Amino acid sequence: MTERKFVKPLKPKVDVNKVNTRILPVEFEYFEPRTVKEVVELLSKYGSDAKILAGGTDLIVRMKQRFIEPKYIVNIKKVKELNFIEDRRDHLAIGAATKLREIENSGIVRKKFTALYEAVRSMAGVQIRNMATIGGNLCNASPAADTAPPLLVFEAKLKIVGLDGEKLVPISEFFLGPGKTVLKHNEVLAEIWIPYQPEGTESAFIKIARVAMDLAKVNVAVALRTEGGVVKSVRIALGAVAPTPIRAYKTEEFLTGKELSEAVLEKAAEIVKTEVKPITDIRSTAEYRREVSGVIVKDALLKAYERISGR
Ligand SMILES: Cc1cc2nc3c(=O)[nH]c(=O)nc-3n(C[C@H](O)[C@H](O)[C@H](O)COP(=O)(O)OP(=O)(O)OC[C@H]3O[C@@H](n4cnc5c(N)ncnc54)[C@H](O)[C@@H]3O)c2cc1C
Repeated sequence: MTERKFVKPLKPKVDVNKVNTRILPVEFEYFEPRTVKEVVELLSKYGSDAKILAGGTDLIVRMKQRFIEPKYIVNIKKVKELNFIEDRRDHLAIGAATKLREIENSGIVRKKFTALYEAVRSMAGVQIRNMATIGGNLCNASPAADTAPPLLVFEAKLKIVGLDGEKLVPISEFFLGPGKTVLKHNEVLAEIWIPYQPEGTESAFIKIARVAMDLAKVNVAVALRTEGGVVKSVRIALGAVAPTPIRAYKTEEFLTGKELSEAVLEKAAEIVKTEVKPITDIRSTAEYRREVSGVIVKDALLKAYERISGR
């Protein structure tokens, strides 16, 4: 049964962008639904005035800064259907409201989807990972979202539920731009389906950031399968180098069928640099991001290859 509470705002006396007042200067109505159906009904009723709250580590920050002022908050933390990690026949399913810390502690994620494990481990600190969810990371749609590159290289599918039913969307079609996804106002991201990879596939994630607690300047994930040193299949994805997380398709195409020699890796690094479209912002310059993209793609390929060869 949906709980409904009224939250009255306190009026801040200082600039919330400069001082952490711990005050939310926004008036809103607050709901705690228990089922996905109730979530969707609330979203449909209140439209763009409503916002989902998962861990709140992006949303609450934005509300404090008054970048957004939702009139209705729908907290999904108590929806059990959104909170699980389940080993299914051909894929691992993760509920969108599953906390990053639970994903980090999952043996199956670490073993089968190492790049996702490494990405989650690299995010913020334990306190944030104990609050933040994988769905929140994706729906916030930061170009630097750390869980996006691993999910792109594993070709994950996202189960989205709305009033008209549910659909599966490939993650490559989910992001539209900074802060923008294909989700409609009355839809919720319910599950992330990660297909088990062919035997012998190994993956790796590398992130360059200013400090450990920061978003990436550049991040990369690769999933690699080789036979006798020759690339049978490779997928490469990068974050913070374009308006959305991207796949490096040309580099993948170049590498497929080749032996992973130093010269081939160098050439791959050069191709990656032509595929990224970085900008200069507070975290880094476009030039640095382009240069480092090549370096960490090469490093990530080597890291995955070492895992394949058991080194
Ligand atoms: C100190 C700090 C450090 C951080 N470091 C990192 C980092 O290293 N890497 C990184 O990628 N991020 C980082 N973040 C950002 C943030 O922690 C992550 O993006 C986190 O995963 C967001 O999840 P959440 O559950 O807190 O999302 P919320 O803040 O609850 O939600 C984020 C957005 O997604 C929407 N939403 C949430 N769940 C759903 C759903 N199931 N369906 C539809 N919409 C939904 C919300 O309405 C909101 O718009 C950091 C944040 C802080 C404060």
